[in-house]
Amino acid sequence: MTNTKPITGRCQCGAVRYKVTGPIQDLYHCHCSMCRRVHGTVFATYATVGRNYLVIEQGEDNLAIFDSSKPVHRHFCKTCGCQLFIDVDDTPEKRWFMPGTCDWPEDMREAPGPIEHIFVGSKIPWLVLDDHLPRKETA
Ligand SMILES: [Zn+2]
Ligand SMILES: [Zn+2]
Repeated sequence: MTNTKPITGRCQCGAVRYKVTGPIQDLYHCHCSMCRRVHGTVFATYATVGRNYLVIEQGEDNLAIFDSSKPVHRHFCKTCGCQLFIDVDDTPEKRWFMPGTCDWPEDMREAPGPIEHIFVGSKIPWLVLDDHLPRKETA
């Protein structure tokens, strides 16, 4: 599916700003313990886009990188700690970003393709999923 207009987003403090100009490839909720911890949430939501379609418009030098595992490089704002992007060595052609950081999440209304839950085998037991999205035990 294609985005009707560029998606823009930023970290909590506004030091880092980005724009997504191309189609979103994947959109999913991850329940693994690594994603829960790095976001401080009970699950994390990600979108992916072709690398060239994600433009960091401001504050690139304010990003720090944390490698949560060897191939996974998580970029977060040095000032507010907001995680904004992920690069994975195995898939250099795409970039992950966090839909929760978009300026206007409603801009994504028509953008995402299928949405799914992954690593549901690691889901927090008291978190009730009452949607009808596909679920995978692992990735
Ligand atoms: Zn920030
Ligand atoms: Zn995860």
